[in-house]
Amino acid sequence: MMQRTDALAAAGKEFDVCIIGGGATGSGCALDARLRGLKTILVEANDFASATSSASTKLIHGGIRYLREAALHLDFGQVGVVKRALQERVYMLRNAPFLAGTMEFIIPCYSRWELFYFGAGVKLYDLLAGKANLASSRVLSRKDTLQQLPMLQSEGLVGGVTYTDGHFDDAGYNLALVRTFADLGGIALNHSSAVALGCDSKEKLRSAEIRDEISKRSFEVRARVFVNATGPASDVIRRMASPSAKPRLKLSKGAHILLPLEQFGSSDAMLIPETSDGRVVFAIPWMGRLLVGTTDDPINEFGEVFVSREDVDYLLHHLNKFVQKPFVAEQIVGGFAGVRPLISADSRSTKSLSRDQEVEVDAHSGLISILGGKWTTYRAMAEDTIDAVQRSLHQSVTECKTRNQELAGSADYTTSYFEKLAGEYGVSPETARHLVGKLGTVATGVCALAASDPELGELIVNGYPAIHAEIVYAIQSDMAMSIEDILARRIGLQFYSWKLAAEAAPAVARYLAREYGWSDERRQQAVDEYAGKLRRMSETAGLGN
Ligand SMILES: Cc1cc2nc3c(=O)[nH]c(=O)nc-3n(C[C@H](O)[C@H](O)[C@H](O)COP(=O)(O)OP(=O)(O)OC[C@H]3O[C@@H](n4cnc5c(N)ncnc54)[C@H](O)[C@@H]3O)c2cc1C
Repeated sequence: MMQRTDALAAAGKEFDVCIIGGGATGSGCALDARLRGLKTILVEANDFASATSSASTKLIHGGIRYLREAALHLDFGQVGVVKRALQERVYMLRNAPFLAGTMEFIIPCYSRWELFYFGAGVKLYDLLAGKANLASSRVLSRKDTLQQLPMLQSEGLVGGVTYTDGHFDDAGYNLALVRTFADLGGIALNHSSAVALGCDSKEKLRSAEIRDEISKRSFEVRARVFVNATGPASDVIRRMASPSAKPRLKLSKGAHILLPLEQFGSSDAMLIPETSDGRVVFAIPWMGRLLVGTTDDPINEFGEVFVSREDVDYLLHHLNKFVQKPFVAEQIVGGFAGVRPLISADSRSTKSLSRDQEVEVDAHSGLISILGGKWTTYRAMAEDTIDAVQRSLHQSVTECKTRNQELAGSADYTTSYFEKLAGEYGVSPETARHLVGKLGTVATGVCALAASDPELGELIVNGYPAIHAEIVYAIQSDMAMSIEDILARRIGLQFYSWKLAAEAAPAVARYLAREYGWSDERRQQAVDEYAGKLRRMSETAGLGN
């Protein structure tokens, strides 16, 4: 259970380590540090997982496209990066099975050469995974390919190549990391921004000024070491610690759209292997929708990013080349965009072991920044970071325990757990499945609320299985502070349908108002702001409102 008032009260203590940034990387660092016995506080400016970590393609993968790049550019460093991620894939799948699973990806092939080329590529992917391989790749006949992907453009199709990767609920996974950290006695605070860093007489960082974005009051957090895990904002924090720090990141925007799954007609995913700009695009069944992405556009400033009309056109153009019945923009039910925090090529340390992530220790201030990486490798990045934290604390580096750390909600979980929940609490199987998919066995907390009051057992909106009890649970036990905290990251409705999310907003605001003592005016303002944001997202994607 996460209580923000308790966390705020505890923030006045002295900590071993303060982690700034509650995305995948920071939450992973916080959990690792706590498991090694360090007194740890995690501060997040917005909500946990509110930035890049809920805007991914939802793949737990080594990155099949990096293999191609490795081969094309004879860049064998990339092979090591892929291998490490493939090992991490196993831990991620194992430690939160209710949030992550495996999926078969099919690459449609329209010539014998493609069949050979992609077939060899996925075999290499299998080989690199070694014991960590999830299932053997396969070459499919034309008939079998069409059986698995019946909507595929059949003209000229020769066959297909399949491989298996992991997929997951990224926001859910991020929240499960934070819950596990809090269950172990860690202090986690969302809506709390680091706005300044303070040093001792030896110019080493010892404090941070944190602004509570809810009350707008500031307070001090004291710690012996500070970790900068702010993803795309990492250079800002680096400059807070050392104003002359040179930028290290190269930012790039990636967008996804969500379409009705029925027209896709398959539970397997498709990989579109070659786009006009030499990338790959995925079409993945996810949470009852078809998730299509991603784009890759360099940007200069981070902040909130939205799907643009160009993104929509690009993704539909590439998807429609492969399907018999084209999808149209009017079918889009939602979408999201995020910013990749890539390490810029010119700034890479030649000493860095892997090419896409780096732990940087600022010799002057002592700030430890964890830069780059990807969701799949969050745990390994955290391990490297907390090793560095222990060295900074002049401690011996102790064993990292996150490889086998089940996340909150995993204990006693089985794939049929939802049936038990439905039977015991009288919630519908669809709702039980949805709840377990979000919270694992922690979902009993929601069901107990629903059982105590029939109104809480009702659907929030027709067409999505979430119930009112989830709103109450999110507010009382899961640190949700806003409509978006609830509808996007905790319930998932915003990712399923912008329209249904707008419909659900007034009900969510009523519970928030009751819990936090909002006036009617404040409640209406929250609904209007949320509806305005959804409208902006839809309009920026060129879809009207
Ligand atoms: C389009 C796209 C698709 C991707 N797909 C995949 C994929 O399929 N698989 C995969 O493995 N990886 C994928 N990635 C990469 C992966 O999503 C990111 O590497 C990962 O989520 C980064 O996590 P993070 O915690 O470093 O950053 P973030 O999630 O951005 O978290 C940083 C946090 O720091 C907070 N913060 C910033 N400033 C402050 C401050 N002053 N005080 C307190 N907090 C602050 C922010 O609010 C934010 O929540 C994808 C990335 C993108 C953009």
